[in-house]
Amino acid sequence: MSHWFTSASGWELGESGRGVVSLRSTYDVWQVRAACRGPGARLFFPPAYQERKDEREERERRAKDICASCSVQRNCLDYAMSIRELHGIWGGLTEAERRMLLTQEAG
Ligand code: SF4
Repeated sequence: MSHWFTSASGWELGESGRGVVSLRSTYDVWQVRAACRGPGARLFFPPAYQERKDEREERERRAKDICASCSVQRNCLDYAMSIRELHGIWGGLTEAERRMLLTQEAG
């Protein structure tokens, strides 16, 4: 497969460029131990409406508090960095913070 597309539900759809598709689960053992599973998961992604700056900061602070107590934070961050996840808070870092980390690692 030359391209993999990740879904939030933990599945990846692969496409080879010749019309061949494949489905694989991205769930690993660490994901079942994620502290963000359940109703609180909505904190980790922006809502459908335009958030005010103070709302976004409060949402991110609450999400990061959950990450700080999560036993699989390192696994989560490694995973998000490995797939260049663009959206949401993973491993205690926002999108912008992960982009900065990638830039630092590249430089
Ligand atoms: S580190 Fe944060 S985003 Fe990652 S699994 Fe734990 S609670 Fe969820």
